[in-house]
Amino acid sequence: MVKKKCIKVRKSEAEKMRRKLEAKNLINKDYCVSSDDEYVYFPVKGSTDRTEVIEREVREKNRKPKSLKDFLEGKVSEEEMENLVTSFDLIGDIAVIEIPSELEDKEGLIGKAIMTVHPSIKTVCKRKSQTMGEYRIRPVEVIGGENRTETTHSENGVKIKLDLNKTYFNSRMCNERKIVADKVEEGENIGYFFAGVGPFALVIVKENPSVNITAVELNPGAYHYLKENILLNKFSRSIKPIQGDVRELEGFDFDRVIMPLPLSSDSFIDSVMRNTHEGSVVHYYSVGEQPDYFEGPIQELKEKIGEFRVLDKRKVLSYAPGKKEVCIDIELV
Ligand code: SAH
Repeated sequence: MVKKKCIKVRKSEAEKMRRKLEAKNLINKDYCVSSDDEYVYFPVKGSTDRTEVIEREVREKNRKPKSLKDFLEGKVSEEEMENLVTSFDLIGDIAVIEIPSELEDKEGLIGKAIMTVHPSIKTVCKRKSQTMGEYRIRPVEVIGGENRTETTHSENGVKIKLDLNKTYFNSRMCNERKIVADKVEEGENIGYFFAGVGPFALVIVKENPSVNITAVELNPGAYHYLKENILLNKFSRSIKPIQGDVRELEGFDFDRVIMPLPLSSDSFIDSVMRNTHEGSVVHYYSVGEQPDYFEGPIQELKEKIGEFRVLDKRKVLSYAPGKKEVCIDIELV
């Protein structure tokens, strides 16, 4: 308890006074309003010469910080605060944040801050490097909370279980998955290349259970979660997982192929052509550059396929300054 200036008002007048004080932003919200049999006491800010003002013992509120910056105020320097990127990716109950090297000694504090502001977050991780290798993994390190990198993410009505250090997953692709799912028609036979833990397939089947998807993934770690996610969402009738290299795929006749491997999709076109027919649709992901982000990827396709019909093209994500991940939807002719 601490002594603070309070406005003393009869109980019958209290609500009217509260509104008046609220309108003038005079209530000191760091302290609790109190009362006795006859009076209500509102803690007030600054000095006021009103007659009803008295000094009274009041209880401090457990003020919950509203933001990361709010929590860190006074604990890190102004310069450090400026370096802090306060946005993070939320994957299941794990927050993933970039920690600039100058702030490494404060990372424990930053982890605690995120979990205090967002109590549903159980683990905070920092990114350790860019996306790497054939399996496209972007490693993280736990800096706060439960010591794990496995979580279950919810998106577009499906559950996606994954391990950040064993599989690729990007929660920012959520809209793109919905866009593709909306284009799928009943009963289609779909080739899902580079399936990872399976997010495109799960979102498509959620919307359209009559499809038949073959999901191909090379990384055994991602394949493990792909199988688990099919069971978790009860989609075994619609999704068949294959662990292997897309290059070796043979004997299929897909109506639609999804190719979410933007940096090297073009080197897998042979496999697309072998396993599709005239009229099949391909969602081709690639990285394009300013000023026309679509020109490069369409050129790649022309070199590999020759003739095709562009059905749609869209920017999917920012990739690097002046570069974007794009998707070109084409129909084979
Ligand atoms: N579609 C998933 C994963 C995309 S990342 C998602 O959107 O989250 C690309 C995936 O392709 C990685 O999981 C990587 O392991 C896999 N991959 C890379 N080369 C492959 C190949 N030749 N055949 C099959 N899968 C491959």
